[in-house]
Amino acid sequence: MRKNITILLIISFIISTLIPTTIFAGNGDIIGYAKYTDISAYINNYPITSYNINDYTAVVAEDLVNYGFDVAWNGGERTLSVSRNPSACSIKPCKDVYKYSSVAGKNSYAYLETDIKTYVNGEIAESFNIDGETCIFIDALAPYGEVSWYPDSREIKLQIDELPTKDYEAIEEALVTVMYMPDGSEKVVDNSEVEAYRSEGWFTAQSDIIDPTMPMVCLTFDDGPNPATTNRILDALGRYNARATFFVLGERVGIYTDTLIRIKEFGCQIGNHSYNHPQLTKLTADKISYQLDGTSDLIENKTGTRPSVIRPPYGAYNSAVLKEADAPLIMWSIDTLDWKSRNAKSVTDVVLSEVEDGDIILMHDLYESTAAATEILIPSLLAKGFQLVTVDELAYYKNKNLQPGSAYSQIR
Ligand code: ZN
Repeated sequence: MRKNITILLIISFIISTLIPTTIFAGNGDIIGYAKYTDISAYINNYPITSYNINDYTAVVAEDLVNYGFDVAWNGGERTLSVSRNPSACSIKPCKDVYKYSSVAGKNSYAYLETDIKTYVNGEIAESFNIDGETCIFIDALAPYGEVSWYPDSREIKLQIDELPTKDYEAIEEALVTVMYMPDGSEKVVDNSEVEAYRSEGWFTAQSDIIDPTMPMVCLTFDDGPNPATTNRILDALGRYNARATFFVLGERVGIYTDTLIRIKEFGCQIGNHSYNHPQLTKLTADKISYQLDGTSDLIENKTGTRPSVIRPPYGAYNSAVLKEADAPLIMWSIDTLDWKSRNAKSVTDVVLSEVEDGDIILMHDLYESTAAATEILIPSLLAKGFQLVTVDELAYYKNKNLQPGSAYSQIR
């Protein structure tokens, strides 16, 4: 148990789960952005995402102002500035509040940690810990219901019947966008400022809608799935809403099925890379068929989707392989040699120095160095204006009808 419960606070928070980057601030309301927190919150025992009160309900921060604080939310800097006005502030020192809690028995206090920086009179304070002495208590919420803090489990439980509400339309006017720099830093900016930031090198996550007039490339990863590195790559892709294609081995499909399915869930494409990586040109037709059809059967069985692309191991194919393949063979136009260098900088240098519209980039999701390279490549390519798409998407947007029995090393 945390003895000296410093704080408390609450107030504010909203944000629609529909558009998690929405921030609303106006008419004296301060709405914090509480997407990133490890505190579990509940409404009427129902777990909710951070402090979203539901899709429509907001807890306004005007109450905080009523206690003598000036509160300002800066969406661009992701800061919530709280300035105490000593002559106006009616907040009690923490000790008193704690005692008050014990005596009154009905009020609860919570310690709120988020990644939002808080300032007290210009000095940074830990989350909403207002200077280590002063507490903002949650009487503000009491009129709406019961609020309890469980420090051991780091949970806030709100039992709330009704709250002041704002509907989604009203919030929409203050939409913001997360923007990134290639070094991974990010900033939340008002939508009206996006173009200005873009001119300074900031970029947005990839849209769900691909612009066919803009350049696009395929990142492809062979020889997995390999949970640690594949998942790290998926996390990097997901962060920017980018996609890639994974050419998997049949012998790994049954072992790492969870990772395989996660690839699909991320909107990425799964291709066939044979069952156990033989050089297909040295095999009989029957064995080629087993390697290719057998692996496609396995993938279809696990994911519900039959692979529409094949990459032969070592890029080796001949007329016998083309004859047995029930899908187009996808080669590559940029070979990162990641398996050889095992060096993230080497991999990123190769790609960024050669990349052109329509390229297919060869990597292997077996190595930490490749995962590290991918974490750099994705934002770097997006910042250069490339869209990161799957092989099927590249063919679709380039109006190319890929044919079984043919091989492609780029799609322009
Ligand atoms: Zn391979």
